Amino acid sequence: MSGKVDTEDTECHTKEITDIPKLDGSLVEEVMALCEENIFGCYQCGTCSAGCPFVLDMDLTPDEVIHYIINDNLDVLKSKTIWLCSSCFVCAERCPRDINITKVMEALRQIILRKNIDETDISCLSDKELREIPQMAFVSLFRKNIG
Ligand code: SF4
Ligand code: SF4
Repeated sequence: MSGKVDTEDTECHTKEITDIPKLDGSLVEEVMALCEENIFGCYQCGTCSAGCPFVLDMDLTPDEVIHYIINDNLDVLKSKTIWLCSSCFVCAERCPRDINITKVMEALRQIILRKNIDETDISCLSDKELREIPQMAFVSLFRKNIG
């Protein structure tokens, strides 16, 4: 075994989140209750996005995610950004307003997962993937993307 998964032979097992879960209150209230961060302190400087290692693959940059939340725009819950976020804390370390955006991303994932919506379909994994992907990677994926 080479230790490297042949990505040509793998399929995408992520689901597109199309049904936005119904919320009890506004999005910004729900996110702030979960992450306990003062999202309204954001002044849209973009420092979080400038340091994010995955920003080029994201459909919304981290500062846009904050902007969507403040404006109660539920489309942020369809964004692949919240699943791509690796919780590396670079944005949280660099934010001049001391907003922990890593926790904000986690709050958005929790809003979806707590409605019993999984982002990853584990039943679609191939035998090859089950053989070659490290178990630790599976555990991390399941903890993050499955409710
Ligand atoms: S770094 Fe902080 S203040 Fe700047 S855009 Fe990101 S969340 Fe807002
Ligand atoms: S915690 Fe997420 S959003 Fe923040 S820099 Fe890391 S990957 Fe990007």
